[in-house]
Amino acid sequence: MNEPGVFENPCSICGVKKATLLCDYVIKYSNGIIFARSWKQFQEANATGHNETCDLPICPDCSKNVGHHADMCPHHYKLHLQAKLPGDLEIKRLRQKAKIIEGGIHDARYLHR
Ligand SMILES: [Zn+2]
Ligand SMILES: [Zn+2]
Repeated sequence: MNEPGVFENPCSICGVKKATLLCDYVIKYSNGIIFARSWKQFQEANATGHNETCDLPICPDCSKNVGHHADMCPHHYKLHLQAKLPGDLEIKRLRQKAKIIEGGIHDARYLHR
């Protein structure tokens, strides 16, 4: 038997449960606009200038939670997993991250002198 509310807002995946979540996978990155004719236009354009997410309506059973308030539809969850680098590249990436962090600490020391 269907849950109440399913008819108005069914889950896109199972179609049985009520969709209470929207997929948070970013499908389009927005850097906002740089040029605007006026400050007002700039503000309007950037007020909603956040990254565009998938927003597929899904139920909690069909969603994959990938962090704080981040739920993904099964399709994008697969992509999310594929986005991870394979072992050797991941090690190189982490080495570079460590360099950046070390560099940051180094810079901070200079500031305190
Ligand atoms: Zn579902
Ligand atoms: Zn999605």
